[in-house]
Amino acid sequence: MTKPLIVITGASSGIGAATAQTFAELGHPLLLLARRLDRLEDLKLPETLCRAVDVTDAKAVSAAVAEAEAQYGPTDAIVNNAGVMLLGHIANQAPAEWRTMFDVNVLGLLNGVHAVLPGMIERGRGTVVNVSSVAGRKGFPNHAVYGGTKFAVHAMSESLREEVAGKGVRVTTIAPGAVETELLSHTTDEGIKADYQAWKEANDVLTSEDVAATIRFAYEQPQRVCVREVVLAATAQQ
Ligand code: NDP
Repeated sequence: MTKPLIVITGASSGIGAATAQTFAELGHPLLLLARRLDRLEDLKLPETLCRAVDVTDAKAVSAAVAEAEAQYGPTDAIVNNAGVMLLGHIANQAPAEWRTMFDVNVLGLLNGVHAVLPGMIERGRGTVVNVSSVAGRKGFPNHAVYGGTKFAVHAMSESLREEVAGKGVRVTTIAPGAVETELLSHTTDEGIKADYQAWKEANDVLTSEDVAATIRFAYEQPQRVCVREVVLAATAQQ
């Protein structure tokens, strides 16, 4: 039987790429979004539409979803995974970096939800997976704004879940601890970046595949079961 369409944002590296690989192996057609089209295409996944889309561009997100649905049928799940982490000291970080994080991690995520939710409500089924972070559950130094965006992801997901529960749509929040990906590389404060990199090298951290397996677990539950939230981290992470 043909499997339904799954949309994954931020699929050009890390957790998003691993999640794309996982759902492709299960036979789902995919819509993969990120700004680096070459990295999406390098995954070479079957039955996959790759589009260079910045998630902060609501129209572009919706247009790509419409194009994929015309080809593969309705979206059964979206994994809102695209995100940026620009760690910094509030006292001297450039406000433009705060805005970038809120634009991508909060408003970009809402653009993904907005593009698929009306169709899910109409069909009375669907799954929205929002990728948050342990930093959306507790505070860490240098994480004030990044953590703010991830607390927002938890808050929005909890309210959205209440809003659509009666309409057959599931909302799952995935909150990983540290994962070895490209995420840290965009932080511009070299001291903070070096310290965090050293910490990651000295400690066990999750792999992207660990997180992808958790997203798969949540999605594969029967539609009447909503895995509301999963917080996962390397066993040794404190
Ligand atoms: P990566 O940096 O490897 O992946 C981030 C992805 O987001 C890339 O595919 C990137 O693609 C995409 N992205 C960034 N900005 C945009 C944008 N404006 N429009 C579209 N896509 C965008 O990091 P991770 O895999 O670690 O991050 C994935 C998610 O997991 C993020 O939400 C992150 O906050 C979260 N997370 C990560 C943790 C970690 O320790 N790594 C821990 C907890 C949560 P491109 O640059 O091509 O646009």
